[in-house]
Amino acid sequence: MEQVTRRRFLGLGVAGTGAVGLSALGFDVAAASQVKQALRLDGTTIKHSVCPYCAVGCSILAYTKQSDSGHTELVQIEGDPDSPVNEGTLCPKGASSLQLAMSRRRVPTPLYRAPGQTDWQRVSWDFTLDKLAQNIKASRDRTFVTQDANGNVVNRCEGIAFAGGAAFSSEEGYLAAKLMRGLGVVHLEQQARV
Ligand code: SF4
Repeated sequence: MEQVTRRRFLGLGVAGTGAVGLSALGFDVAAASQVKQALRLDGTTIKHSVCPYCAVGCSILAYTKQSDSGHTELVQIEGDPDSPVNEGTLCPKGASSLQLAMSRRRVPTPLYRAPGQTDWQRVSWDFTLDKLAQNIKASRDRTFVTQDANGNVVNRCEGIAFAGGAAFSSEEGYLAAKLMRGLGVVHLEQQARV
């Protein structure tokens, strides 16, 4: 990424806007912020997406850039002004969604704590998916109910609950609901209300 010195930053500000007015302190903070933002987004590509956090479904613009190593880097997320849903605005949670992808505190791999242990260990996705499948099978076998107290056939699994989220697309929500209902799960909930 281009290194921007203070001299170059100020030069771009004057040349780029032609209207950097000086405050009493000799520095127009608002105009400088605009220049800084323009520099940051220079050369980026805009992708349209939807905030993953809640069912309001605000539209977002994601600015991406190719890094020197060839990776696509997410540079900024902001509300899409063309959206009839949010008209360019985002709530504080949506406005911080960049952190969802970029935060250094994000957990990069599944973590597993074996029964009786206190420490978490990093495990592979293969391990995690196998473990999930084994545990779902064991819970379903253990808690499946074929008849209720009155003798009615119910064929339901009472030992598993499923909670989806607004990050699901309609298709993912449909798939998850089908899978869970196929297993007989009746405690089923998600924001998309599939
Ligand atoms: S920006 Fe806020 S209100 Fe909009 S979808 Fe995201 S979390 Fe919901």
